[in-house]
Amino acid sequence: MRSAAEQAAIRKDVFRWLDDVFIGHGGYEIHHTVLRSYAYHGERIPLLDRGKGIRNPADFSSTLSIMSGWKKNQYEDYESDDGWVKYHYRAGEGGDNVKLIRAFEAQDPIVYFSAVREGYYLPYYPIYIAENDPVERVVRFPLDEGLAVLGDPASYTIAQKRYADRLVQTRLHQPIFRARVLHAYDGSCTVCALRHSELLDAAHIIPDASEQGVAHVTNGLAMCKIHHAAYDRNLMGITPDFEVRINSALLHEVDGPMLRHGLQDMHGRQIQLPERRNERPAQDRLAERFAEFAAR
Ligand SMILES: [Zn+2]
Repeated sequence: MRSAAEQAAIRKDVFRWLDDVFIGHGGYEIHHTVLRSYAYHGERIPLLDRGKGIRNPADFSSTLSIMSGWKKNQYEDYESDDGWVKYHYRAGEGGDNVKLIRAFEAQDPIVYFSAVREGYYLPYYPIYIAENDPVERVVRFPLDEGLAVLGDPASYTIAQKRYADRLVQTRLHQPIFRARVLHAYDGSCTVCALRHSELLDAAHIIPDASEQGVAHVTNGLAMCKIHHAAYDRNLMGITPDFEVRINSALLHEVDGPMLRHGLQDMHGRQIQLPERRNERPAQDRLAERFAEFAAR
């Protein structure tokens, strides 16, 4: 067994590594082969266990990570809209359950990998298991520490509910939306085809201020930062027939190469659409939004 200090150091290094892979490189989903390639001082420590929903390295006294099953019949874990995850552990898993319960008792930080599609995950960390129900064999934890502080969702005040909704929106819904939209557009800007995911956003066609749950991919467009900002401010519009339009005042302005190549040259171009038809932007939504642009 590794020392407690070494286990803590490895967990910390895993979080740093995930920051680098996921945030530093503009990640929107991570393939399981990447998650299995993690190494600590040259020693490979896979972050996922093949065919299992829980990762308990033999020389760790408690769980390192758990993942949501892609196939629903395999593990019945799920995320609810209040930002809490319920993870069912099975009878007879012996050591696996012992280590999971130890992570709860010791409040060791773990990673939760949420499957966005087959083989691809969104990481959440550090996660602290908040509850263990040994009769139902369920552990529960929030996807954000802020939610743990608020306590039971059933007894929220109005202000707490508002705060919790915002946390769920940023911590749960936004990353899923981003993963789905960037995947649909194959990781490139729909306007200029830029492929650097650290410079890409998932833009909403219709703002989702009132939205409950994750916005559908048909309300999204993968855009680079500059085109996203231009679209949000109606300096650039997209017609329901998928054509880019630049605000007429901007179109005739004289400025440097960013304005000329980055914006003016895009006028009249067709956006690049997702290959899968059911992931293409909804034309009625584009029309509604384009009316706003055209009215300026
Ligand atoms: Zn772009």
